[in-house]
Amino acid sequence: MAGGLLEEIRFLGDARPGSITATRGRCGNPRCHCHQPGDPGHGPNFRLTFKRGGKTVTESFPTEAARRKAEREIAAFRRWQQLSREFVEVNTEICQRRPVEESLSEQKTRRRSSRKSAGK
Ligand SMILES: [Zn+2]
Repeated sequence: MAGGLLEEIRFLGDARPGSITATRGRCGNPRCHCHQPGDPGHGPNFRLTFKRGGKTVTESFPTEAARRKAEREIAAFRRWQQLSREFVEVNTEICQRRPVEESLSEQKTRRRSSRKSAGK
């Protein structure tokens, strides 16, 4: 099961954290339609925001294709987060189920100490 998860992580492709938000707004021209009451304004304008070095970075998309590319990359990142959570869960379970296997040196130490206590 863990192998299948790893396989899926391997083929996720480019991934990046972040989110895309759509904004609408009014421009600086008071005679523009966007200043009319009830007008939804310009847009939507899509922005990509993500954290870099603890700061929030905002980027706009030069093209529609650039936005779609970022959408794919963000989706891949979310999938990666989900898969890595599953991976950790599966591994925690494996760790809990795996019996304690003592190394040879530990067994020797224990045998010696038990012999000592038996001779007392
Ligand atoms: Zn306007």
